[in-house]
Amino acid sequence: METRSDLYIGGAWVPSIGGGTISVENPATAEVIATIPAGTSADVDAAVAAATEAFPAWAGLSRAERRDHLVRVRDALAARQDEIGKTIALDVGTPLRIATKIQAALPITDFEVYIEALAEPAVDERIGNSIVVREPAGVVAAITPWNYPLHQATAKIAPALAAGCTVVLKPSEVAPLSVFLFMEAVHEAGLPAGVLNLVTGYGPEVGEALVTHPDVDVVSFTGSVATGTRVAALAAQSVKRVTLELGGKSANVILDDADLALAVKVGVSNAFLNGGQTCTAWTRMLVPAAKHDEAVALAKTAAETFAVGDPLDSATRLGPLVSANQKKRVLDYIRSGIDSGATLVTGGVDDPTLPEGNATSHGHFVSATVFAGVDPDSVIAQEEIFGPVLSIIPFDDEEHALAIANGTSYGLHGSVWSGDQEHGVAFARRVRTGQIDVNGAAYNPRAPFGGYKHSGIGREMGVAAMDEYTEIKSIQV
Ligand code: NAD
Repeated sequence: METRSDLYIGGAWVPSIGGGTISVENPATAEVIATIPAGTSADVDAAVAAATEAFPAWAGLSRAERRDHLVRVRDALAARQDEIGKTIALDVGTPLRIATKIQAALPITDFEVYIEALAEPAVDERIGNSIVVREPAGVVAAITPWNYPLHQATAKIAPALAAGCTVVLKPSEVAPLSVFLFMEAVHEAGLPAGVLNLVTGYGPEVGEALVTHPDVDVVSFTGSVATGTRVAALAAQSVKRVTLELGGKSANVILDDADLALAVKVGVSNAFLNGGQTCTAWTRMLVPAAKHDEAVALAKTAAETFAVGDPLDSATRLGPLVSANQKKRVLDYIRSGIDSGATLVTGGVDDPTLPEGNATSHGHFVSATVFAGVDPDSVIAQEEIFGPVLSIIPFDDEEHALAIANGTSYGLHGSVWSGDQEHGVAFARRVRTGQIDVNGAAYNPRAPFGGYKHSGIGREMGVAAMDEYTEIKSIQV
């Protein structure tokens, strides 16, 4: 068992002042695989003090100097990609291949994006008699979830550091182990003391201490809507800038002229990526009513290829859900779907059969589940489930499809398929989400990412993310 007894504050590994610990579980076996420090508000005070002290010198570096630091962190991170992938397979339950190719690779790209951005010179804007300059906003509190535990952290840290801010990170206590490997990389890269600090612990203790700390200037939060609204309310009391990246209930709209077989296959894979524990997951598949039954048959076949099992087994496409709590939540939603009158096409509440010799029977496994004929107003079509549950919803015409797509409180992501690219783009413009893919187009880590409505405030990723960590000053001359 791994014991992580220290936090990373002021450029050194130091014990938590409280001395408490939190157990970390392998969700495939329900065994405790590690302990981490349960940080306290006193640890937060020490970390914020270190970040505050480091801020003037870090903010004062040239873009080229900050870029050199980011290059060293990127390289140290890249050297650990396989180890990070394996660690995330163990603490999140992501199948190893995906954990390495997505979970461990994205953080490297996150640094790459700002290494590119800092290669461009900063140019002050002139507006009449004003020089408009952009300055680092100060000390950032980054609070992150467990589903993509390192990417969610580096998606904040890389642009914040690039903009000249210093950071205190509080990762999720549920799957924190990859973040410790990252901090080792940061230490090895020689980032100046205090520029990036780690305090692990529970949200109400460590998270709230950060959000209410008088010396924190910016709060960047990724997580659930419930926690995000509390974080925003607490941060408002000391007028902090807040970025929120919250949940989603994304629609995959398959228009009548689309390649149905391709759209369904890609759509099912998207919905079940990382066990459906992905904020952008296309959990609602919208199909023309006349093609509903054909789409259902295709989706059933596709879903049944999602072999459930040990994340370390190369045949596995669906690992366990992250925790017993998450499994219970997802099973309750599946029951709600059945009660709502939707047709259960495959999957359901019974524990899936695991492959022979797979020593994971105590894990938090749920089968890939597909519902058909789903009422767009029902609970399973409105609420974020965060598990492998796909709802297929028939529509009458494109206006009806658009109304359904826009008919939830979320607005994070989405997809549209059409035989005519321009038609697809025209439809995409009318969907109220921060991101939308036409005909399965590739994820672009250089494009802004974020949500409309309850999916959040502000943007991550790309150069746009640096705005969240920047103040604008007008100097009149
Ligand atoms: P969560 O809201 O429970 O926790 C997120 C983080 O907030 C954790 O670090 C947690 O310890 C901390 N926290 C909990 N209570 C707190 C409090 N009172 N004050 C301050 N911090 C507190 O979310 P989760 O279960 O870890 O993650 C799943 C959620 O995250 C889903 O809703 C998912 O959609 C969302 N998510 C969104 C995005 C996005 O970019 N939009 C990305 C990934 C996940």
